[in-house]
Formats: sequence, structure tokens, C-alpha cells
Amino acid sequence: MDCLSLLEHVIVTLFLAVLISIYMNKGREEFFRILLLGLKSLPGMQGLISRVLKGEVTNFVKQVNLDETTKGGKRPPRVVIPKKGIPYDELREAMAKFKAAETNHVEGKIFAYTYTLFDEHFQLQKDCFKIFGEKAGYSENHDALVSLFHQAFLHENALNPMIYPSLRRFETEVVSMAAAMLNGNENATGFLTSGGTESVLMAVKTYRDRARKLFPHIKEPNIVAPITIHPVMEKAAHYFGLKVYHAPVGPDFRVDVQAMEKLITPNTILLASSAPQFCHGIVDPIDKVSELAVRRGLPLHIDACFGGFMLPWVEKLGYSVPDWDFRVPGVTSISADIHKYGYVVKGASVVMYRNEELRKHQIFTYAEWPGGLYGSPSMAGTRPGGNIAASWAAMRALGEEGYMSKAKELMEATIKLKDGIRKIPALEIIGEPCMTCFAAQSTDPEVDILAVSDVMETKGYKMEKQQKPSSLHFSILPHHVPFVEPLLQDLAKSCDEVKANKTLAKKGSAAMYGMVATIPDKAIINDFIVEFFSEVYKCN
Ligand SMILES: *Cc1c(COP(=O)(O)O)cnc(C)c1O
Repeated sequence: MDCLSLLEHVIVTLFLAVLISIYMNKGREEFFRILLLGLKSLPGMQGLISRVLKGEVTNFVKQVNLDETTKGGKRPPRVVIPKKGIPYDELREAMAKFKAAETNHVEGKIFAYTYTLFDEHFQLQKDCFKIFGEKAGYSENHDALVSLFHQAFLHENALNPMIYPSLRRFETEVVSMAAAMLNGNENATGFLTSGGTESVLMAVKTYRDRARKLFPHIKEPNIVAPITIHPVMEKAAHYFGLKVYHAPVGPDFRVDVQAMEKLITPNTILLASSAPQFCHGIVDPIDKVSELAVRRGLPLHIDACFGGFMLPWVEKLGYSVPDWDFRVPGVTSISADIHKYGYVVKGASVVMYRNEELRKHQIFTYAEWPGGLYGSPSMAGTRPGGNIAASWAAMRALGEEGYMSKAKELMEATIKLKDGIRKIPALEIIGEPCMTCFAAQSTDPEVDILAVSDVMETKGYKMEKQQKPSSLHFSILPHHVPFVEPLLQDLAKSCDEVKANKTLAKKGSAAMYGMVATIPDKAIINDFIVEFFSEVYKCN
């Protein structure tokens, strides 16, 4: 490292000497712990670490070649608003070119993110943007341009429910339909949000504000949730000044309810669980968590962002689904994403409460603004009308029969895939996932599952890699249905390749996650992630 100053060299040399003696005497874990603690506290070391990190990240980003603007690490000149508007046709062409260079989800090689096909159902939602766009004065040309995007947007705004009454009607009807689907009684109610993240953020804010009102002596509120709950719970706590105490899961990957109980303190204001958790598709023992919540007088949020629009139909089809929704007495709220298995374009979710009293804590108000009395039910102020209209239209268009037939098709594909994976000698399914999602791990010490994932990527797949334990996540989505057999064959072949070539487990994802696992201080990994985002979203 030629850019180091002399002082840094001296410090590093001294420090290394100390470390070597620790390594000899205390072993690897302790070595890394001291290494990181030491490095971070020494003068000049923060700078060194961040330089090394930056270098690593820059290399990494260069390798992944997100698009031609980052190719080879070259930075083209800064992009500015063009002096003269670019002709619509030229923009259409440019967008089509960008799109063509991406992995197309309809090829069945992506295992998360995209839940809709380009079929008539999608066309209907595009029309929602068109109809509610025209009302706001869009020209045909402009409209055709935005609808090229999967996530077009429009200018009709749901901020004020008095201006666009049709949007208010769509929203309340979507919430009513969701309440019935989740087996809430006539008191169950909720709000529409922009996605799972906003739904969980709002639930956490609601319970924080409820606790402030009911238990003002609690100054440092906390939430007790499973380790497998979506990171958005941690994000919500971070944003709103709470702590999350994570309970471990048992060998079946369902949360250990006794461990949850042990984590409850006098400052606990909320329990949470998932139906199902995203990682392995497993539903927590919600009946037991509910029993705990009732006994301890705590509210219970169920994160069903993933399964909210799938589990009800899976159950109706006759598959076994553990109790999880408003039928379970301790459940006080549920988040459920419409833009996942509700099959609507991105930007739609609901956060549902058992009753109006709970929901009220979500509403923000401010009466002092010279601009008038202000109130807002969710994070976003201005809200796009197209997503609201599209949610309503998607649910009305599919109906129960539509949801059931999609669920049936996806469940059948999932079962075929799980059965097929169980027949691959090196692989097994984790736990007992009950809907259209599962995780696979390796049973053969000679087959590193993350190396399998790297081989799959050479075959054009984009894999969802997981840690603790190393595994691959599969959400089964409409575009997978015609590709069950080729996917199983590619998985089996990839396992064989990894078994035959020992070096594969020593590089790529396997090596990276292996290294991550040996670093006890996750602060450095978090720094790496920050660097990564900072680098990837660097504007030109
Ligand atoms: C997707 C998901 C979220 C977050 O939702 P976004 O729509 O990505 O903001 C939260 N929880 C679970 C279980 C999810 O699957």
C-alpha cells in the first residue's frame, strides 16, 4: 500500500506483532476481534480501514459491471438535465435498450422481486395509470412513455382525500377487501401504503405512539421479534428510536417462544412474528406467540408482507396452514403486500389493525402550519393515485377465483420443485415451508451451496444467497411455472460441478460469506455495505 504514510507503517508493524502473538495463543476468533477493535481505535486506522474498504468495494463494483456507465470503473461526464427535451421516440428506444440488457424475469431465472407477467392483468393496471393520468392532464404521448415503465406513475395525488374522491373510495375498498381476506371482523381496518417497508414502519410508529400515550414512563421502548423477521423491523426501530430484541428460532426454524418470553422487559411495547418469514418461507408458531402476548398484555404484529395475499388461498385450497391471521386472538395488526402475491404493480401494501382505536395512533397531525390544518395517515405525503387505482382494479379483476387459481398453479409448481430438490442427493429443504417459497441447503460437506449458486449464475440465473445457515431462497412466481424441469436439472448439474471441482468452494460467494462468518465484529461488514451503496449509486 504505497499511499501509507510512514507513521501508519510503524503503527501497522507494531500492531501486527501484537496480533501474531494473540493468534498463537488465543486462536482465530479472538485474533480477528482484537484486530478489528485495535485497528479501529488506533490513530490513522479509521482512515486506513476506510481506504481498504473503498478499494475492495470499487473492485467489487467494477467486477459486477452494473451497466455500461460503471464498466471498467470509468466515470463518464456528469449527467445533467438536457438543454433541449429529448424526443419521446428517442427515449422509448433508449429505455427499451436498457431493459433488453437486463435479465428478463419471464425466463424464470429470478427468485424474488417480480410477481406479475405481461398479460391482460398487467394491461388492466397500465390502464389505471392511463385513465387516472389523463384526468390529471397527461398527453397521449407522455402517457405512452411512462407506461413503458413497469412502475409508471401519474400526477393524481391521494394526499387530500377530498380532492379525488375516487381514490378515497378505492383505498377504503382495498382495505375492506383485505380485512375480510385476513378474517378480521367488521372492526378490522387499516391503511394503504407504498409497500411492505412502509406498512411495517407504520405499525411500529403506531405502537410507539400508543405506548407513549398509555405508558408514558417507558423511555426506551423495545420490540421482541424472531431473528428471522424481515430487516425492516430493525429499520423501523432505528428510524423511530426503539430497540429490537431478536429471539432465536428452533431446529424447525420457527421462533422459540420461550426465548421470546425471556427477552420481554418492562420496556417491551410490542411482540412481532412472520407469516411466513421471507428467508425460508416458514410461519412462526403464531398461536403460541399470541398466547404469550395476551398473557403479558402486549400487542402482536404479524409481518405477512410476503404471505398475506397467498396464505388465505393456500389454506382454502386445502393445504395445511398454521393459524396466523385475525382469527388468532392476540394478533392486533398485520402487514400484507399487494405488490407481491396480490399481483399489482409495485408500490402497494396494507397495514391492518384489529380495530379503529389502534389505527388512530398511525395518523400524524399538525395544526399550526400557516398553510392550513395538516394530517397524514402514512409516511408519504403526496401519494400516487395510479397505485391505489391499480390495487383496487387488480383485486377486483382477479377475484377469489383468480387468486385461487394462481395459488393452485404456484403451489403445484412449488411442490414439484421441493420434491425434485429432495431427490438431488446433496440438497435438502429447510424446515416445513407451507406456501410458495422455500430455502434449500446442502447436506454434503463437499457441496458448498453458495458455490452451487455461483455455478447457477453462470447459467444465467440470479440466485438469492442466504447465511446462517448458508442456503438459497426460492420464491416461486408465475414466471417459474413452465421452467420447473430445467431448473431442477440445472440445480442437479451445478451440484455435480461443485462436487467435482473443489476449487469452486474457495472463491466467489462461498469465499465471501466464509470470510464474513469469521469476522465477529459486524461493524466492519456494515461499513462495507455502506461503501457498496455509496459506490453503486454514485451519480455521474
Ligand atoms: C418484502 C417484505 C417486506 C418489505 O416489503 P417491501 O415491499 O420490500 O418494502 C417485509 N417483510 C416481508 C416478510 C417481506 O417479504
